[in-house]
Amino acid sequence: MSTSAQQWIYRSSVRSRLFLAFTVILALLFVVAGIAFERLNLLDRNMHDLVEIKTKNAHQTQQLYVYSQASAIDLLRILQAEEREHRIPLYASMDMAIQRADSALSALQKSVIDRELINPVSQIRQLYLKEFYSTVEMLEIDSLNAARHHFETRTEPVLQQLLNHTMSLDAQHTSDMEQQALSLQEETDKARLLITIIGVSSLLVGLVLAIIIARGISNPIGQAAKLATSIADGDYGAKLPRSRISELHILFKALSRMRSSILQREQRISRLAYNDTLTGLANRTRFLECLEDAIKQGPGALVIFNLNRFSSINNALGHRVGDQILEIIGTRFVEFCEERHCVARLDSDKFALILCEIEDKKNYLLSIEQILLSLKQPITVQGQKLDIDARAGIATFKKDETSVIHLMQMADTALDYAKSHYQNLAFADPCQEQEGHEQLSLLGEMHEALEQNHFQLYYQPKTSAQNGQTKGVEALIRWNHPERGMISPGLFIPFSEQTGFIRNLTPWVIKQSLSDLGEWFEQGIKLVVSINISTLDLTNPELATFVKSELEKTRIPPEYLCLEITESALMVEPEQALKHLQELATLGVKLAIDDYGTGQASLSYVKDLPVHELKIDRAFISNVDHQNKQAAIVGATILMCEQLGLDVVAEGVETPEEASWLQDKHCNLLQGFGIARPMPAAALLEWLNNSSV
Ligand code: C2E
Ligand code: CA
Ligand code: CA
Repeated sequence: MSTSAQQWIYRSSVRSRLFLAFTVILALLFVVAGIAFERLNLLDRNMHDLVEIKTKNAHQTQQLYVYSQASAIDLLRILQAEEREHRIPLYASMDMAIQRADSALSALQKSVIDRELINPVSQIRQLYLKEFYSTVEMLEIDSLNAARHHFETRTEPVLQQLLNHTMSLDAQHTSDMEQQALSLQEETDKARLLITIIGVSSLLVGLVLAIIIARGISNPIGQAAKLATSIADGDYGAKLPRSRISELHILFKALSRMRSSILQREQRISRLAYNDTLTGLANRTRFLECLEDAIKQGPGALVIFNLNRFSSINNALGHRVGDQILEIIGTRFVEFCEERHCVARLDSDKFALILCEIEDKKNYLLSIEQILLSLKQPITVQGQKLDIDARAGIATFKKDETSVIHLMQMADTALDYAKSHYQNLAFADPCQEQEGHEQLSLLGEMHEALEQNHFQLYYQPKTSAQNGQTKGVEALIRWNHPERGMISPGLFIPFSEQTGFIRNLTPWVIKQSLSDLGEWFEQGIKLVVSINISTLDLTNPELATFVKSELEKTRIPPEYLCLEITESALMVEPEQALKHLQELATLGVKLAIDDYGTGQASLSYVKDLPVHELKIDRAFISNVDHQNKQAAIVGATILMCEQLGLDVVAEGVETPEEASWLQDKHCNLLQGFGIARPMPAAALLEWLNNSSV
């Protein structure tokens, strides 16, 4: 097939291709049928020639032969008839035979084209007729004998010659017929071969056409299927196949349109699924995916930000203002962060970002401080200037060393820490985190432990700095775990506070310590027992009633019970805390400020609260005899307490030097490993016995 024809096939439409193919095949079939028809006609003609002419010729030759012979036989009979009357009927038969032979010869002369064949027969026939009629004349005119003689000598040899020639003519005709039949056979074979060749070649042409057309259609359809599969697999960049076939061209265009609209829709869906509609930042889902990738590449830091007082602003100024604030905060994050930092709004007023490829903590800090500073810029919404700031919880990670959930937990814990300690930011401490896990696993067992009396109180003496007399003890809880042994309060108290379990624990501590105190009272040991009170306890309106009823039950004078409160506990719900503390103070129980110096409480609390005791945190006591600044703070605090009429307790006294320094400064009470470690009630009695000796 020529290249231009091929090109035409490639360019034409499916319809025109099929039309062409069928037309070509039909044309080939017409050619085959025409040739077959023409060949059959030829065969028919030849057959007709053979049957009509040659057979007739053979028949006429045989007639010539037979009637020539018959006329001769009649003549012979005439010659043998003596009487004339007998000869007359024979003449009639003889004439008839001659006539028939003549008509056979004239028919032969007309139909036999080969003159060389027919002319000798005609000449000999003429000669024979001449001799024949001469014989008849002689018979009628001359004598029978002369006629007989003429017949034998002249007529019979010529007749023999005529018969021989006629026979050879007949043989010639037979051989002609055989020859013609043979050539007819050859013609038939040739026609069969030709029809077979044309049939087979039209079949081949049809096949080639079918292959070309099928390929021309199936290849682009295959490409279209491939394209559809790649679209299904989410690959939208695959090259668009081209086709000059109009229908396939339309199909490819439709596929391309389908692909781009799927892509657009997918992008829209993923925008909705992965972005926060308010700020346009990534949402939690997208952020967690980013974090997973960041952990794989490591190292980096996850920072979770929480806006301060956002819910109050939201409630006071309405959600619309709240949304505007969040939008502005979102843009500040975007302004600050580089592309590689994935920034997200996790929920409400919680934002998060990932810092990658920063080598040391200082750099992290600097970046985060910068963000916090930028968030601090006042925001003007609806003509109102608002001060917003945030806190950040940071969890650093190394390549493949942690999971997304764990890291989020760590950063959340750090954020909680920052919030509870009123810090701008806090780093998650892996050790703290481990402890957190321990807390979690312990939580389920805590209720059970309370029922089964697995909690135990240890007591740490508080002795007079001046004479060493034990004035009181601090009740410090322990969990005597059947499998894990003695668990320190640092591992379960914060969690009990978070979960509210502390509301069950504090009453138990109060009951147990008052019961122990009751026993000591019976033995004549009069000590003030200090109990640690949590933030949550201060919000409990039942606390004062409970303490009152327990004091009444045990008949212990209220001044022998001291409640230790941390400064930060007072800051959560200050008014409520103050109210409850006043109720407690009214009962006559003592109140102590615990861990003084670590929180952010102002001295106004000390002024307003019905406090009896101030416990300086051990951070200030440790090395107080060496550290001038600490010494100044502790000394001043002691002086202040003296002025305010408060007892001062120095916590964490470990060395005799620290104790004597405190004694010099007129500190009232000392508590610390240097005096005694916390111990069970029984051991305390023994210790008291020994120390009083
Ligand atoms: P805290 O109230 O400041 O108690 C003093 C802690 O300092 C005790 O730790 C005590 O063992 C420790 N300590 C005392 N002297 C020294 C010293 O010289 N050096 C050092 N390094 N440590 C000293 P503990 O018993 O592990 O208690 C830890 C914290 O758990 C307590 O701090 C308190 O906040 C809390 N806690 C303990 N028992 C209770 C309780 O019954 N209820 C509540 N709400 N909290 C409790
Ligand atoms: Ca305490
Ligand atoms: Ca303390």
